[in-house]
Amino acid sequence: MSSQPQRKSVTATEIPYSQTYWERLSFLVHSVEVLKSDGYKLEPLDSEALWKMRRCRNCHLRMRTRNRQPKSKSDSDEAESRLENVSPDRQGDGDPVDADAVADEEEPVDKKKEDAAVDEPVKEDDITVTVEVPSPDETKEKKTEKEEKKKKYPCRFHPGAVVCKLYTCCANKLWQPGCTFAEHHVCEDYAPGELEAQWMLHKTPQHQNSKSKTKNKHPPPSPRKAIALDSEMGTSAHGESELIRLTAVDYFTGETLIDSLVYPSVPMRHFNTRYSGVTRGMIEAARRKRTCLMGRDAARQQLWRFVGPETIVVVHGGNNDFLALRWIHTRVVDTFLVEGVWKKREREKEEQKEKEQQQEQGEEEGRKEKEEKKKRPDGKGEGGGRSLKSLADVRLGWKIQCGRNGHDSLEDALACRALVDWYVGDLGRSVQG
Ligand SMILES: [Zn+2]
Ligand SMILES: [Zn+2]
Repeated sequence: MSSQPQRKSVTATEIPYSQTYWERLSFLVHSVEVLKSDGYKLEPLDSEALWKMRRCRNCHLRMRTRNRQPKSKSDSDEAESRLENVSPDRQGDGDPVDADAVADEEEPVDKKKEDAAVDEPVKEDDITVTVEVPSPDETKEKKTEKEEKKKKYPCRFHPGAVVCKLYTCCANKLWQPGCTFAEHHVCEDYAPGELEAQWMLHKTPQHQNSKSKTKNKHPPPSPRKAIALDSEMGTSAHGESELIRLTAVDYFTGETLIDSLVYPSVPMRHFNTRYSGVTRGMIEAARRKRTCLMGRDAARQQLWRFVGPETIVVVHGGNNDFLALRWIHTRVVDTFLVEGVWKKREREKEEQKEKEQQQEQGEEEGRKEKEEKKKRPDGKGEGGGRSLKSLADVRLGWKIQCGRNGHDSLEDALACRALVDWYVGDLGRSVQG
């Protein structure tokens, strides 16, 4: 069923199941409120949410209006002219990702890519692109100039197509900012019902195994207690993240349940190869050999062979993965979120310890020590980032995402699983301590 893209030798050791372990893992499952505030979609999208999913035809940023969805055509035109900007596509999509750009809080953030811009080596292509580097004196002036320009021309894009990772309009690389500026965004043409169809979300159904005990010769296996999930995404012609590879690992046994390329459901602009490690060639070859899953719906169905509503899904920055799968699931442990809680706890513990030390040593000495600590430049634990790469390094001492071929969703899923195992272990340690 599955094709193994660039399979490395990854060994997953078993995590022994016990009632205590299960209780601790379940303790890490986030509340619906926490998931929602992190951008997880837990209800089918209503008309207002769908309205916000529209994108600019040129720069592919999300359209955002001050007002709600207009009722008539003329209202619609008026609303269009009041368009406000919108967010940079944070998918590593190759479009202008400008640090200064206004962020749309509705946009799911891909935490996996947090460090990507720094980590990824830039491959040298045949064509040399001249990049203007301003001198330090010029920088400030240029920045203001840039901001002014952005205000006047919020829509920045490449009118050309992508051929061999280069834009035909300017020969710039896929990830370089647009060469053309416009004063207004132009909404993509959506056919009636297109947005509804594109963004239909599905709740995890009862597992087929528990539904019917018919004479099915090959009954689906029972739902797993927990799985680790990761996926890779490309960018569709509309500028949306589109699922192109899916990996699921049984949390306890470590068995790889799915590790398959996914033939995209919609026309693609590019495959984010730099991050995803997936090329158009790989996808086409997998289709010819019939070794890939055909589209996100098939991918979700395949997952549901292993997942029921009670299955805990372990993931890192998973809101994007779930949205790309058009999947609503509420039993989630997201290591990005868990790490936030852990960091807070560690900070509080540290403060408590300092307080106690102060009381023991007397106020004056304690204060001195605190000052010293502030000066100490050990970045670890403090800041350090919550990307999977950084967490795997800090918490597990694992070096992941080091290859030049983009991310490997199997490696990432296993790292995520090991991280959760670490948190569960830490819960145990704090109970004993
Ligand atoms: Zn261009
Ligand atoms: Zn635009």
